[in-house]
Amino acid sequence: MTTVVVGAGIIGTAIAYELQKRGRQVVLIERDAVGRGASYGNMASIAVTEFMPASRPSVWRQIPGWMLDPEGPVRVRPAYMPKLLPWFARFVAASRPGKMRRLEAEGAALCKRVYDDLLPLLRETGLEGELTQEGCLSLYSDEAEFRADREHIEILERFGFPHRRLTGEEARELEPELSDSIGLAVLFPQNRSLRDPFRLVTALADRFAALGGEIRRGAVTGFDRSDRNTAVRLAGGDPIPADDVVIAAGAYSGLLSKMLGEPMPLETERGYHTQIMAPGISMRHSIIWPARAFMVTPTAGGIRVGGTVEMAGLDAAPDYRRAKITVRRAQTALPNLRCEDFSEWMGHRPALPDTVPVMSASAKVPGVFYATGHGHLGVTYAATTARLMGDLITGAAPPLDMRPYRIDRF
Ligand SMILES: Cc1cc2nc3c(=O)[nH]c(=O)nc-3n(C[C@H](O)[C@H](O)[C@H](O)COP(=O)(O)OP(=O)(O)OC[C@H]3O[C@@H](n4cnc5c(N)ncnc54)[C@H](O)[C@@H]3O)c2cc1C
Repeated sequence: MTTVVVGAGIIGTAIAYELQKRGRQVVLIERDAVGRGASYGNMASIAVTEFMPASRPSVWRQIPGWMLDPEGPVRVRPAYMPKLLPWFARFVAASRPGKMRRLEAEGAALCKRVYDDLLPLLRETGLEGELTQEGCLSLYSDEAEFRADREHIEILERFGFPHRRLTGEEARELEPELSDSIGLAVLFPQNRSLRDPFRLVTALADRFAALGGEIRRGAVTGFDRSDRNTAVRLAGGDPIPADDVVIAAGAYSGLLSKMLGEPMPLETERGYHTQIMAPGISMRHSIIWPARAFMVTPTAGGIRVGGTVEMAGLDAAPDYRRAKITVRRAQTALPNLRCEDFSEWMGHRPALPDTVPVMSASAKVPGVFYATGHGHLGVTYAATTARLMGDLITGAAPPLDMRPYRIDRF
C-alpha cells in the first residue's frame, strides 16, 4: 500500500514516519526544503497548558481595540479584513458557552496524551536531550493582571494540569534576569520546550528515510481520482499513484482540500520570531507574559522572542515591525536583553476558527485524510497527531474519540 503524505512540516513528517514504521510504503512530498515552514521557527514550546480555545468573549471583545492599535497583539491588515470575515464569524460562534466547554475538553484530551506520544518519538530520533526540564513561567505585573488571566488557570485546574503560583521574588530566584516589575508568576512545569524544533523535523525525516521512506521534492497542484485510488499531481511531473493521501500542508492545506471538493475554513495566523544569537543574558525557563502577548524561549541558537498574530493571508510580504515590537515588549520583562546579533522570521500557523485541529478521514473522498489546523500547538500535538492518524489510516482503534476532530464538523 502506497501512502502519499503532502507537506514535510512537523505534522506531515511525523505522520510519514509513523506510517512507514507501521509497514506502509510512504512518499512524503514537499515543495520546499523539509521543515522550513511554520515548523522551522516556532517558539519550540511543548505547550500542554495552552489548549484554551482562542475564541472566547473575553478575547473577541478586545479585538476592536487591537484593530486600532498597530502595536496590538493581533493585527488585521485592513486590505485583508473583507476576506477574513467568514472565518471571523465562525471564530465568534465558537465561543458560545456550551461549545467553548466542549472545545476545551477536546484540546485537553490531546494535551493529556502529549508526553506519552512525544517521549518515545524523541527517544527513537535520539533527541531526548533536546527537551528542557524547566517549564514555563507566566508573568503578571500585579494581582489585577493575574485576575484577568484567571480563566486560563481555572481551566487548567479543571483538567488537572499542575501549576504553582510564585511571588515576584520567587520568580526572580528561578530566573534572575526578570525585571522587578514582575509582581507574581505562575510556573507551568509541564510546559517544557525543545532546544530546536527544526531539528526534530529533520531527525524524523532522516529516520523515515532510513526505514525506506521516500522524500520527493515537488509542489502538489491537483489530484486525479478513479473510484478508489487517487493520484497526486505534481507541478511539471508525472502523477504519483497513491492508495491513500494525507494532506498535511500546514496553512496551505485548505487550498488542497478545496481541490478535492472539501473546503475548510483554514486561515493563516502569521507569527514572527527574533532569534538573538548574542542576547547578553542566559535563561533556563521559557516565559510568557499574557497581558503583553509575547513569549521568550531559550533555544540551542540563543534566545528566541516571539508571539503576536497577524491576519494578512498567505501571500502578503512579512512586516518585520511586528517582530521588533515583540522584542521591545520582551525587554520590559528582561531589561538586560540585548538585541544586536539577530535574525527575524515569519511563519504561517494553520488556524481553524474553533482552535481544534482536523485529524480526519475525508468525508467525501475515500482514501484521503487530513491533518492540519494545529494553530499555535503544532509542535505540541505532532507526536500525538502521528499516533492518531496512524491508527485512523491503518484501521486500528485510536485511543481517543476522533469525532471532534473531523473535517465535516464545519
Ligand atoms: C511564531 C510562531 C510560534 C509558534 N510557537 C509554537 C510553540 O511554541 N509550540 C507549538 O506547539 N506550536 C507553535 N507554533 C505553531 C506550529 O509551528 C505549527 O502549528 C506547526 O509548525 C504546523 O506544522 P505543519 O506541519 O502543519 O505546517 P508547516 O510546518 O508549515 O508545514 C507544511 C509544509 O507543507 C508544504 N506545502 C504546502 N503546500 C504544498 C504543496 N502544494 N505541495 C507540496 N508541499 C506543500 C510547505 O512547504 C510546508 O513545508 C508556532 C507558530 C508560529 C508561526
